[in-house]
Amino acid sequence: MVSKNEEYIVDIVDNGTDGEGIAKIDGYTLFINGAIKGEKVKTLVVKANKTYGYGKLIEIIKSSNDREEPICPHFKKCGGCALQHMTYEAQMRFKEEKVKKTLAKFGIANTNFEPIIGMGIPYNYRNKAQYPCQNGKIGFYSQRSHEVIENDYCYIQDEEADKLAKRAFELLMELGNICYDETIRSGLLRHIMVRVGKNSGELMLVIITNGNDIIDKEEFISKITGEFPSLKSVIQNINNDNTNIIMGKKCITLFGQDHIVDILGDYKFNISPLSFYQVNPVQTEALYNSAIEMANLIGSETAFDLYCGIGTISTFLSAKCKKVYGVEIVPEAIEDAKENAKINEINNIDYRCGAAEELIPTMYEEGISADVVFVDPPRKGCDQALLDTIIKMKPEKMVYISCNVATLGRDLQYLIENGFELKIVQPVDQFPQTAHVECICVLEGR
Ligand code: SAH
Repeated sequence: MVSKNEEYIVDIVDNGTDGEGIAKIDGYTLFINGAIKGEKVKTLVVKANKTYGYGKLIEIIKSSNDREEPICPHFKKCGGCALQHMTYEAQMRFKEEKVKKTLAKFGIANTNFEPIIGMGIPYNYRNKAQYPCQNGKIGFYSQRSHEVIENDYCYIQDEEADKLAKRAFELLMELGNICYDETIRSGLLRHIMVRVGKNSGELMLVIITNGNDIIDKEEFISKITGEFPSLKSVIQNINNDNTNIIMGKKCITLFGQDHIVDILGDYKFNISPLSFYQVNPVQTEALYNSAIEMANLIGSETAFDLYCGIGTISTFLSAKCKKVYGVEIVPEAIEDAKENAKINEINNIDYRCGAAEELIPTMYEEGISADVVFVDPPRKGCDQALLDTIIKMKPEKMVYISCNVATLGRDLQYLIENGFELKIVQPVDQFPQTAHVECICVLEGR
């Protein structure tokens, strides 16, 4: 019997989907954060359920060759970089195995798994930082809690963006603004979000507030824009709701443009605060280029880009296809997408705003169908009504881009059961140091 507050010496037999070490004691499963497959460790059981429990890593008795000293002093407290204690090679191997193991649960095994596309320098890659503000502090939420821990440097963020967020916070506090307290639902400043165009250098600052009134707003704007000349857009986003969702619906431009511009490949993209934009632009180019290459287009195709965001995939596709339809649910993102077609002088894309699972069935009934369907859904995957329409439509090819291999497996299984053939699975490391993995899958319909 494994009990709480007892110490055990265990062998780590595997790593779970979030990178946690897994040990077995007579059939009982223990999850131990920070332990690596192949290691022998001493662990203190902190939670014991009937068949599984959680252990704290007390001592590494036999270390793995895959272990590396985490670069960040906050590694243990912050849940952001779950794999920082592994070498980058081991992280990539972990992700390849995670994809294979997860898909196997959905009966997908005998397929062409390509080696993961890794990142040259797997640090400081993110173009978007969102920091909670609490109790006069800016930082990150401690694992599984809402307590903010200060950090002065984040190793996966852009350095300038990181500096801007922290300086903006400091100035707002100096001017007498107060952080939001979610327990009493009062105070102004909830989060600070920064976006950077990694290839353009443009910065956007978004101040997310409970209520409207920023104290000494003009002084704040003049100081922060003076200190950061690349700051092209300062936005206030109002979120008065009792929610864990970071941003509210209302944006007010306090300075400059209501968007920033970034460059990907040969194209420029306008990005607004509420629009989705891939967080790792270096790997995004690799992702889009591989996905489009794997679709083997000849130029005469009609393509769908579903869950298109600001139209990045549509834009890359436009040069390789006759016609592209882009569908996206967030109105601001579709506005960006339409503007992006204009600034890149593209006129073979038709953007439509709505839920893919509602718009695509209607469009199909009206006689609009595609030879190639790209989908790039959020973590919850595709809605079944959408998959059913794609199954009826039977496009020659389908390219499924996914940031969550569990829902990917579920959707692939459904597509395979309904006549599609899975040709290739290509993982891409969009999120180095974290346990997340992106995948491109190519399916054939006819
Ligand atoms: N392909 C884009 C965006 C991918 S993220 C890119 O590479 O940048 C997923 C997008 O799906 C987000 O923009 C989100 O707003 C959108 N979305 C979420 N649910 C949707 C739905 N039901 N129908 C259409 N779009 C949806």
